[in-house]
Amino acid sequence: MLRLLCVTAHPDDEAGAFGGTLALYADRGVEISVVCLTAGTAAKNRGAARTDEELAALRTAEFKASCQFLGVTNCEVLNYPDSKLDRASFHEVVGDLVARIRKLRPHVVITFGTDGGLTGHLDHAMAGAFATQAFQWAPRPDRYPEQLEQGFNPHRAQKLYWVTADFLLPDRMPTAPPPVTARIEVGAERFEKKIQAFMKHQTQSPLFVRLRKNLGRMPTQEMFHLAATREPRDAKLESDLFAGVIED
Ligand SMILES: [Zn+2]
Repeated sequence: MLRLLCVTAHPDDEAGAFGGTLALYADRGVEISVVCLTAGTAAKNRGAARTDEELAALRTAEFKASCQFLGVTNCEVLNYPDSKLDRASFHEVVGDLVARIRKLRPHVVITFGTDGGLTGHLDHAMAGAFATQAFQWAPRPDRYPEQLEQGFNPHRAQKLYWVTADFLLPDRMPTAPPPVTARIEVGAERFEKKIQAFMKHQTQSPLFVRLRKNLGRMPTQEMFHLAATREPRDAKLESDLFAGVIED
């Protein structure tokens, strides 16, 4: 079975940034896992939550509902501080992600680039930086060797992608996006599924009006940048994240 791991920063990223792609590969029988680094407690939109703890519980439940709707098999929220991922311990967060890669053994890992995606959000940029380093270090027995004593084995995932786009958001500070090397056509039905998954995040309902506008001119296409591969190769334009992947 092919396996995909998606590393995100906030509950709702799995839908808004990656939803069409997750739904597409779930439909193709790929085992999908999503690890979200924060419970999103810095959000302006807080639903009925009175405290950060209540908001964390609500947003974690919304994340699970969205993941389930998209066909995700494993989903997990790690409770790193929202909007402060640049101050989290690099060693600790990368170690947590290395452990997930060693346990889940994905063939392909997808995450944000260090531009922080379309919004340029600090947490998105850091999630990308942490996940990128974890992809590089999960195979190395000399990184986090204590995990090997706990029964984890090193794991060499085959491809790492950063989500990207061929446009900028006009009302945001401009980012410098990674070049598009993969265009994934998810189709109109899965695009609607992505919107519906986002709408599982009821605490974020004030964002719903902007959602379609922020998804660009060709919203049925999600775009990625191939950032690293197990086998050295030239970049070429792809339409499938699993192109060339060997089921091992
Ligand atoms: Zn986010």
